[in-house]
Amino acid sequence: MVFRLARRAWGSRSICASRFPSSSLSYSSSCSSSHPLHVCVVGSGPAGFYTAEKMLKSHKGAEVDIIDRLPTPFGLVRSGVAPDHPETKVVLAYGAESDRVLGVPGEDLAGIYSAREFVWWYNGHPDCNTLSPDLRTTDTAIVLGQGNVALDVARVLLRDSAALATTDIAEHALVALAESSIRKVYLVGRRGPAQAACTAKELREILGIKNLHVHIQEADLKLSYLDEEELKNSRIQKRVYELFCKGASQHLNTTSCQRELHFVFFRKPDSFLQSDTEGRVSGVHLEKTVLKETGTGKQSAFGSGQFEDLQAGLVLKSIGYKSLSIDGLPFDSHRGIVPNIRGRVLRDGSEPHLLEKGLYVAGWLKRGPTGIIATNLYCSEETVYSISEDIEQGKFTETADMRLGRAGLVQLLENRGITYVTFSDWEKIDCIERAAGNRKNKPREKIASWGELLRAAKA
Ligand code: NAP
Repeated sequence: MVFRLARRAWGSRSICASRFPSSSLSYSSSCSSSHPLHVCVVGSGPAGFYTAEKMLKSHKGAEVDIIDRLPTPFGLVRSGVAPDHPETKVVLAYGAESDRVLGVPGEDLAGIYSAREFVWWYNGHPDCNTLSPDLRTTDTAIVLGQGNVALDVARVLLRDSAALATTDIAEHALVALAESSIRKVYLVGRRGPAQAACTAKELREILGIKNLHVHIQEADLKLSYLDEEELKNSRIQKRVYELFCKGASQHLNTTSCQRELHFVFFRKPDSFLQSDTEGRVSGVHLEKTVLKETGTGKQSAFGSGQFEDLQAGLVLKSIGYKSLSIDGLPFDSHRGIVPNIRGRVLRDGSEPHLLEKGLYVAGWLKRGPTGIIATNLYCSEETVYSISEDIEQGKFTETADMRLGRAGLVQLLENRGITYVTFSDWEKIDCIERAAGNRKNKPREKIASWGELLRAAKA
């Protein structure tokens, strides 16, 4: 998708989801100059949009094009944010399109998915519409990891599906969740409740699900001296720990509870168990862990040599997203980011501080897959500040290619025979999705296949 620039004033307009679909996705400021600054942003998620916004606000006459591999904009906001979190859908964010791997035996068994795939499936991402996770032949799911994504997928599995019916969840996921037999979810963390990666708001939400029985072992809540030191240094982590303590002390009448959420601490996956009959996953072989200080002020988990099995027919690995490298683009595969200094891209294998001229990075690709959507605001601000500083210091010399700007981009796509979806094409998709959603009392009914999206765009 290429968002062509419509000429309009940015002014003091702020980007927001309710306005964007009816306006142009790329802008020029109203003032022109003889040498306007052309910027191409790759990725139309939060980081991309924040960067475009900041560029247009900081540079009179700047022109920004946004390109995306999908025929739909908004990245993580469309495909990552849980459908029952619509308030988070202010326009903005980019993420990483792959997953960290555990590297333990059995990881490829049927019935094991990355949380990203599962999230893309229920959000109608066209790359995961055929995922079809089996939610009917097992009553138990294990989620590995205790970050916010883990909480999102556990919540979607445990919530009454009727509560999801009026969200923009993909229809195929709504049907599967309504028929789901999953009643028990284990959230497994390699460290303890004092180190859990989730945040208080998300934890409070899952602990508050009606008729959900939450299991937290009292023994896991015991703090070591080092835990106490860690909590003294982080008010956010302390709040999370206090919520676990509160959750453990709320004993509900189990007979009235249809669903169970078990927090399992101090366990790391050692291997996956395989069912004898179909070669599917039947559980996870876990190693108990002990925490040790590693000189960073934080504790890491180490195997204790003691093992136990946890049975489940569905396993979701929620251990973090990972950015993909692109041919010709410098990439730090260890950290999964494009190497950079405050958003300025560093050349691969170069002397320190040798920069790729005119190339900048923002969002998860710049700093790794952490932070909430608004974190991209500060991240993009820093990148735009670096661009502005470079312009001021005369670091750009005009080359013929740079002068071509938007026209050059379109020419390149045409030369390569790439059919692209324009903003007005996206408006057609948007219109069809909203109308279909309207009939079902949903904000939109997402089109979840490449073929249908492209047909709708070119209708
Ligand atoms: P995350 O917060 O980094 O959590 C990853 C989890 O996986 C942690 O529990 C981590 O344990 C565990 N883990 C990592 N490697 C592991 C391994 N090899 N073996 C076992 N466990 C492993 O990542 P995320 O949940 O994908 O979230 C990404 C970012 O998006 C976060 O900043 C999150 O806050 C944000 N997000 C926000 C919202 C929201 O605001 N509502 C919703 C979704 C996501 P350790 O802690 O021990 O490393």
